[in-house]
Amino acid sequence: MRYTSTRGGIDPIGFSDAVMMGLATDGGLVLPEDIPDVRDRLGHWSTLSYADLAVEVMRMFIGDDIHADELGMLVERSYRVFSHRDVAPIVSVGDVYVMELFHGPTLAFKDFALQFLGNLFELILKRRGGQLNILGATSGDTGSAAIAGVRGRDNIEIFILHPHGRVSPVQERQMTTVLDANVHNIAIEGSFDDGQRIIKALFNDLELKRRLSLGAVNSVNWARVLAQIVYYFYGAFRVCDRSGAERVRICVPTGNFGNIFAGFLARRMGAPIAELVLATNENNILSTFFLHGEYRRRDVCKTYSPSMDIQVASNFERYLYYHFAKDAERLRECMAEFAATGRITVPRNADGVIDPAIQAGSADNTETLATIKHCYETDGYLADPHTAVGISVARRNLCSSIPVLCLATAHSAKFEDAIEAALGRKAAHHADIEKLADLPTQVVVLPADETAIREFMERRLADGQGRV
Ligand SMILES: *Cc1c(COP(=O)(O)O)cnc(C)c1O
Repeated sequence: MRYTSTRGGIDPIGFSDAVMMGLATDGGLVLPEDIPDVRDRLGHWSTLSYADLAVEVMRMFIGDDIHADELGMLVERSYRVFSHRDVAPIVSVGDVYVMELFHGPTLAFKDFALQFLGNLFELILKRRGGQLNILGATSGDTGSAAIAGVRGRDNIEIFILHPHGRVSPVQERQMTTVLDANVHNIAIEGSFDDGQRIIKALFNDLELKRRLSLGAVNSVNWARVLAQIVYYFYGAFRVCDRSGAERVRICVPTGNFGNIFAGFLARRMGAPIAELVLATNENNILSTFFLHGEYRRRDVCKTYSPSMDIQVASNFERYLYYHFAKDAERLRECMAEFAATGRITVPRNADGVIDPAIQAGSADNTETLATIKHCYETDGYLADPHTAVGISVARRNLCSSIPVLCLATAHSAKFEDAIEAALGRKAAHHADIEKLADLPTQVVVLPADETAIREFMERRLADGQGRV
């Protein structure tokens, strides 16, 4: 499989190069040249364990770049650290199914991709030699999952920016209590969008990217999307088995469009997914797009689901590329217009919708808390606030013939404030989180400024902690 850029400005490259490139060198995002059609394999795939299915799905996109046995080992190593034997178990919660994606080491779905990416980086570096300096921005969960994926590994340093005071206390401790010498936590005085803007600018400085061997762990990295495709197949198969339905609807709480983009690809490959339901919190730029065709930047507001407090979704460009039928030139013009005006619009199709494959809605704070309370009191299920945003939106348009699978993106104990606000008392517990309370931490606070971040990295790397 070869990879190109959404902006059409790179020569086709193989899988490993695509992973190491992160953001494409023309400023676009890396995508496979073709999306494989797997409809004739579904019967076999639906019988596989999570790990075996992962190998089959990933092989379609990796080709000869990694030998099947080696890939099997990577996958095995990545998912055996999950605490549930099914990796992604599915439970019934009232009238919906819920797939729990939070049984990895940091209790959020990001572990699916970042455990795999950590192992993959190690394999590629072993083959090629050299050093990788990872730079990433997090709205909370990516940072801890990325750190958990690479902590203590040879030849890898990781620098993670998080918005100072705007991630949950647990999320913060999950990052800052990791004291391995290759881990560098930076709290920036700004929002997640500021962090994302800074790292985009640093990655776009090609001289710096090459000199510091920068690598990306944000959802712009193709390997993250790839790892996430697997559970869309897995979840759709399980719900079809249980309900007898032929296809399912999958509801995804969304911030950066990374998770749901993997679902979009799974559906295109032929997974039995009728539609995707995109759910946002009050930061609803994406749901507004799918409802009205307008994508307009606004200020980020703080909600109970901080990992979705994002306005400009970096993976949305990948979606638009397909929406524009792979017309890289139209996409370039569109992204330029968005950069200049903060707004783009696309027309509805003949049926009056933006995309028949994607329904959308948003849930505000009040509704999110009400859903947490309702799930707990009526269905006996404690949903984290991100999951609750999804369940709120999914329940608005239930239809009797198509079962709905809601993705549970984090464990409730990561967001104890929201749970307490919803239920009036503390109910969310997890032993791994309770252990973090009294551990020592390491973090530096820096201004939300590109130069400050660059200078800090160069200083740390020159200090001999990383070899440049
Ligand atoms: C990252 C995250 C999201 C949003 O996922 P995207 O890929 O950015 O859309 C939702 N919920 C939780 C708990 C997350 O950590």
